[in-house]
Amino acid sequence: SAAPHDEVLAAQEAHLKGLADSEERTIFDKIVSKEIPATVIYEDSLALAFRDINPQAKTHFLVIPKIRAGLTRLSKSTEDHKALLGHLMYTAALVAKQEKLDAGYRVVVNDGVEGCQSVYHLHLHVLGGQQLSWPPG
Ligand code: C5P
Repeated sequence: SAAPHDEVLAAQEAHLKGLADSEERTIFDKIVSKEIPATVIYEDSLALAFRDINPQAKTHFLVIPKIRAGLTRLSKSTEDHKALLGHLMYTAALVAKQEKLDAGYRVVVNDGVEGCQSVYHLHLHVLGGQQLSWPPG
């Protein structure tokens, strides 16, 4: 039988599939379905991580939910998304380790117009591989 972690992922996946998602699809759905190429560096039943095509640091990858389930942006989060949000954050840390970002990194979510969001499918940016500065613009 499946490991407990896999059972949790499967239950969350089934739950997310039942949530409405009325918004238009984005380019990230085409990356999930492999209709357009991306350099995928991690994949499980809920999440996909791939390298950003316009990197803003030596290492820059995105972590996205494979099923958007209404999460066009972080501010659309509801109680239904809590397990997925935790999984995405954990996945960011897992892939950062895989990418050997042992000296540190930054996780960013851009939300909406003032947050400079351009793709309306929730994604975590992970930036590292070099000394970053603070604050961002
Ligand atoms: O947070 P924001 O919505 O602005 O970020 C979208 C990110 O998706 C950008 O960093 C952009 O370079 C990236 N992107 C990508 N592959 C695509 C389209 C966009 O990595 N095909």
